[in-house]
Amino acid sequence: MSVDSILIENGYILTMDPKRRIIRDGSVLVEGQKITRVGKSNELAKEKAELVIAAKNMIVMPGMIDTHVHLAQALIRGCADDVSLVDWLKKYVWVLQGNFTEEDGRVSAELCMAEMIRTGTTSFLECMIHTRYGFDGIAQAVEKVGMRGALSKIIMDSTGYADSADIMYPGMVEDKDACLDETARMYSKWHGKADGRLQVWYGLRSLGAVTPELFQDVAQLAREKETRMTMHLGEVIDDVRYVRDNFDMTLTEFAKENDLLGSDMVFAHGIHFDDEDLQRLADSQSNISHCPASNMKLASGFARVPEMLKMEVPVSLGCDGGPSNNTYDMIRETRLAALIHKAKVDDPLVVTAEQALEMATLGGAKAMGLSDSVGSLESGKLADIILIDMKDLGFTPVTNPVSNLVYSGSGHAVDTVIVNGKPLMRSKKLLSLDETSVMERALKHSGKLLERAGIDIQPKWPIE
Ligand SMILES: [Zn+2]
Repeated sequence: MSVDSILIENGYILTMDPKRRIIRDGSVLVEGQKITRVGKSNELAKEKAELVIAAKNMIVMPGMIDTHVHLAQALIRGCADDVSLVDWLKKYVWVLQGNFTEEDGRVSAELCMAEMIRTGTTSFLECMIHTRYGFDGIAQAVEKVGMRGALSKIIMDSTGYADSADIMYPGMVEDKDACLDETARMYSKWHGKADGRLQVWYGLRSLGAVTPELFQDVAQLAREKETRMTMHLGEVIDDVRYVRDNFDMTLTEFAKENDLLGSDMVFAHGIHFDDEDLQRLADSQSNISHCPASNMKLASGFARVPEMLKMEVPVSLGCDGGPSNNTYDMIRETRLAALIHKAKVDDPLVVTAEQALEMATLGGAKAMGLSDSVGSLESGKLADIILIDMKDLGFTPVTNPVSNLVYSGSGHAVDTVIVNGKPLMRSKKLLSLDETSVMERALKHSGKLLERAGIDIQPKWPIE
């Protein structure tokens, strides 16, 4: 569905602009790919548009931005629940992902994007695409589906994970030169394409799978190409041991030494940092993608988000993946981000609903290098907009819509999603994907994948 102009009328607008204005009975005008006016409905009453969307009883806000997504893990949702991290990786996730075909990669990406759109995500950062998932097919899927996405190619040159050497599943191992060549090819082919919606990044594998020399080479390559980097850092305490035992450094000393700090880096998880680490992250404006659901499910620990916010470390939110979360619903993730730290530090004032929503929108825009174009509803920005239906028992009564959204809401309340001025969902119906066929194909591919990998997942209770 392509339209030249859209007028969203009579909504409850969370602008997320510098003043954080909330406009009751407000309207937003979209012309082409951009927002051209935001204001009171009576001020925009004379505006005409090809598509008029009545937004009474709806929140109108910038789309959610998920800065840590594994597209390939949607297909293995629920395949590694309630197990230790080592088993999670070695017995299930790596084995399943290490048996992917390119068709699995595309099917999983479509399933993941369908869920993201349905639950209000407009932009995402995919952190690690293995060659076997088929980068081209995934990029084509993003182009077709209409989301804004940064796709990161896996970069690695060894087979360890944190302080465990040589433990990676053979199907997950990639050759260094092949990784770099593919990134360069995909960058030329896709970066800035699909009306500017696509980016190609370097997706560095975790500590233990990349040598310092390769970290340094990639940092230089990324900066030459003016693209960005992402990697898991400090998700597990073993990361801290790895840099201490091998290099006599802390996590951010190691990152600094290898040119990894900077506003062009997104570190996923970022849990096991000491005070000096946090200061280095703040000084370098390195981004953290906070993944509360995944961190709780895998018992990774609590990222020091209250301190990060105080020290002005840029924090955004990520849903991580199907076996670690197990949803790609950023509204639920925002709720967790606003809840878990209060209990951890015994203070209900830390990480407010407003701060959590800032992380999910403005923080995400910053992490993706898109602060000038998305993350808020302002004239001149790109039209990445979501509408959330508040005509619902769980949203009643509405006193502060931010509270309703963050503490009472979930992605199921999302009614309409617009990306780059193009509607991708209207009245909860996906427009750029056939939901039934996405689910049918995912079911078929997940069954075959489990069979190929020799993994049998059954309910833990007896089935009759
Ligand atoms: Zn991850």
